[in-house]
Amino acid sequence: MKPLVFAGPCGVLPKEQMFEEAEFLAQFKDDVNLVIRGGAWKGQLYPDKKMVNGHWVDTPKEYTGLGNEGARILTMIQIMFGIPACTEVATQDNVLASWSHDWAQVGARHMGNLPLLRTLRAADKNIVLKRGMGNTIVEWIGAATHLTYRSQNRVVLCERGISTFETTDPRIRWRTDLLAVPQIKADYPGREVIVDVSHSTGRRDLVLPMAKAAMAAGADGIMVEVMKDPNESMTDAAQGIDHDMFKRLIETIV
Ligand code: PEP
Ligand code: MN
Repeated sequence: MKPLVFAGPCGVLPKEQMFEEAEFLAQFKDDVNLVIRGGAWKGQLYPDKKMVNGHWVDTPKEYTGLGNEGARILTMIQIMFGIPACTEVATQDNVLASWSHDWAQVGARHMGNLPLLRTLRAADKNIVLKRGMGNTIVEWIGAATHLTYRSQNRVVLCERGISTFETTDPRIRWRTDLLAVPQIKADYPGREVIVDVSHSTGRRDLVLPMAKAAMAAGADGIMVEVMKDPNESMTDAAQGIDHDMFKRLIETIV
């Protein structure tokens, strides 16, 4: 099986820019099972601060993403470029607004949101289920079971880094629990699992080696934040890789 690769910016970009990203990503459609990602409804740790180079800086206004317009841009990309799309849904309204996307993402902060999981269970969707940063594997598998209970949805587990005592570098907010990959493969046969090598590293220079390690550990694929100029990203700028790095990443994992 070709690796499953969720790739795209942290948040959906304005239409022209997002189309440019889709055009770039489309060239990898034969190499991997590609899904374009981007958050339409975004949130950040603080409404009025963001981290730049490991320091918190004040922001003039809260960034919440493009919202429903972002979901529409992803729908256009699915149709025009033939790349399945995925965005994070946090509410029933989000699920409705992204009904046409092939995939829905449950974010780490919502892994245990049972009303959301039940809503998605009833939708005919492929779902990528992030592991909560403070959740055990049993809790994660339990959430996945809520999504598949009496339904046929495809659920892909996504390890996105967990909270630990290690805080040496503030850019590394979570740590990749790579052991989760072979553990799930051994203990829950048939479960698909990928590794988010962006949120679980926080630093673009660590993305490639961890992508390689994820595949070596037996992951079915990866999720990665990529855009033309990741330093321009409204969110998670330190971890996004550029197009050249993405090309190298694909060469490394296929
Ligand atoms: C994301 O994928 O952009 C995201 C917000 O992820 P997480 O829920 O893992 O923090
Ligand atoms: Mn992000």
